[in-house]
Amino acid sequence: MFDLLNLPGVKPVDLRSGRNLTVVAELIEGEIPLCPECAKPLHRHGRRVSIFADTPMQMQPVRLEINRPRYRCVTCGKTVTPELVFLDEKRRATKRLVDAIRQRCLGTTFHALAQETGLAVNTIKNIAHDLIEELERTVRYETPVIMGIDEVSLAGEYRCVITNLATNNIFQMLEFRTQDHLKPFFKTLPDRERVEWVCTDMWRPFKRSFSQYLPNARLVIDKFHVVKMASEALEEERKKYQSTLTKDERLHVKKSIRWLTLKRPGNLSAAEQKALEAVRQTIPALAIAYDFKEAFFRIYDNPNKASAMHAFEAWENTLPENELEKFHSLAKTVHNHYEDIFAYWDSPSRITNSYTECLNGIIKVANRMGRGYSYEIIRAKTLYAKHARKVGSGVRLIPPSETPIPTKGTSETVEYGPHIPTLVEIADSGGLD
Ligand SMILES: [Zn+2]
Repeated sequence: MFDLLNLPGVKPVDLRSGRNLTVVAELIEGEIPLCPECAKPLHRHGRRVSIFADTPMQMQPVRLEINRPRYRCVTCGKTVTPELVFLDEKRRATKRLVDAIRQRCLGTTFHALAQETGLAVNTIKNIAHDLIEELERTVRYETPVIMGIDEVSLAGEYRCVITNLATNNIFQMLEFRTQDHLKPFFKTLPDRERVEWVCTDMWRPFKRSFSQYLPNARLVIDKFHVVKMASEALEEERKKYQSTLTKDERLHVKKSIRWLTLKRPGNLSAAEQKALEAVRQTIPALAIAYDFKEAFFRIYDNPNKASAMHAFEAWENTLPENELEKFHSLAKTVHNHYEDIFAYWDSPSRITNSYTECLNGIIKVANRMGRGYSYEIIRAKTLYAKHARKVGSGVRLIPPSETPIPTKGTSETVEYGPHIPTLVEIADSGGLD
């Protein structure tokens, strides 16, 4: 019979098709080995048939039925079944099938792989877990010089995602963003002294987690998290006044007040500008809140730190007392994080833009990820996505530091982590399911 198996040490003797394709194979017997215990000659002792899964053929799962002789030692009583190098006894599958599953298990569903191969979903899961454990041990991404940190909802909880903002890559994902999770991460981070900037929101435990471990890092609070509070303050005021409008006034305003007032004026069309003007006329009190929102956004247009600080002071000084309560609390928040907010003007200019880009990309990927996976699997699918990792390596926007990157041995590869825009592309095409 033609050797359709191409596996060393066995030959196919029969082929049956049913629900699966079953290939019956026999051991190609050589000389009877010696007893591994006492080195005396072994004797035949019946046969044993075992069933293993193999790589699919003709679009069908393959069952391999292997008929092996057993041997027994008359001296010590040990029985021996000849081992076959191509078998993964633990998984009841050929090693080549396990390899094929490892290649694909982070890029497709476990269910699809189970159907394709005839293995149980749990077996596929176990193979994936082994692979993830190995990746954890062997894959190292280069510690970012500019690091972004945020929360993203994944598998029902908020998780912590750490990004390389200079290269647009995901660097690491932590189960939660508590100090219990962050501190050990920073404590054991290789090349901690590389980190020069950390960009995040105003969440205080974060700063407390890294400050003692990253000797050269400065915190900058992401611009968009800051200005978002001005938009939220405006929203408070809008809700207050919108409800007082009469039917006629509502008709006059026509367009969504919310949309008109939240947009930056530069992004309004001529018709929208007219509509906004109508809103200003109809609700003068809201116009005041709107102007405070816009003036707050413009603080970030200042070319340097000193003028930005002055602009903020001027803005705060003009806030009417006992009114616009949310804008007052925004001012208070700015004071509470003063140094870290105004660090924006000391930081490399593209930090906060790429932060937002990265974050939106990750949120997109998270939303498109197939449902029903555990956090661990989603994390591995994201963090070790093969194609995204390939693209990510070698992208570098800031000059390398003087010192060479230490590697921990030849088995470790140094990369930057999965490239976020590529991850988004893969997720868009359904590839991360
Ligand atoms: Zn023996």
